[in-house]
Amino acid sequence: MAARRGANIFGLLAGAGLAGAVFGLLTLGETRRPLRRAVEDKRRRLRRNLAVAAVSAAVIQIADRPLTRRAAMVVEARRWGLAKRLGLPRWVEEALAFLLLDYTLWVWHVLTHRWPPLWSYHAVHHADLDLDASTGIRFHPVEMLASVPWRLAQVLLIGAGPRALGRWQSALFLSVLFHHSNLRLPLALERALACVLVTPRQHGIHHSVVRAEMDSNWSSLLNVWDRLHGTLRLDVPQDAITIGLPSPRDPRALAFPRLMTMPFEELPWPSS
Ligand SMILES: [Zn+2]
Repeated sequence: MAARRGANIFGLLAGAGLAGAVFGLLTLGETRRPLRRAVEDKRRRLRRNLAVAAVSAAVIQIADRPLTRRAAMVVEARRWGLAKRLGLPRWVEEALAFLLLDYTLWVWHVLTHRWPPLWSYHAVHHADLDLDASTGIRFHPVEMLASVPWRLAQVLLIGAGPRALGRWQSALFLSVLFHHSNLRLPLALERALACVLVTPRQHGIHHSVVRAEMDSNWSSLLNVWDRLHGTLRLDVPQDAITIGLPSPRDPRALAFPRLMTMPFEELPWPSS
């Protein structure tokens, strides 16, 4: 028991160290090779986004991780869920669970835009006037809390054991930092990555104030889901995009307390 707790703490610290290193490298790259011109002071945004992220991280550690990990262990022990029921070789079963977790996150992301109560929380993420790695961890804590039942349903219905779930969550986290980043990659490299993965230019289009542009590129790791649904867009140049929501546009109106209470305001819906 003590050994397992020690391994858990070590895993947590190693994961936090890797996440911090990737975040630091991306932030350094953003200052050296920015993809879009910044609207706001980077340091002020960073402080604000990290404050929101700290509250959300606490919610995830308390409400999400223990429950979903426990659910994944039950799935493994009792062989519940689709992937476990098909009698597949273990690696195929885990690959299928990984893919289905990623697809059902695509569905969740669409829901957060389409269902007004969820949109009011997801809008806090989209209200950032610039887009960089810190936007990728800036989610309202209630959005994180609301995603817990969805995550549990994903694990239980798909049949995602601890290994498939852990690998998908690690890959997803790195992908979310990467595709929100304001890093200008060489075009040839970005095109090659965009064959499979969500890239910074793709996700920039999703953060546009223009509704028709925002209603595209919903994927979070593999972009095959947008390809299958015909919602992948690569045709908007980054310098033609205004990042954020139509309102509020004043950076002074986007301080930490306002971001916490924003879901309780009537915000104008992005226009087409
Ligand atoms: Zn979104």
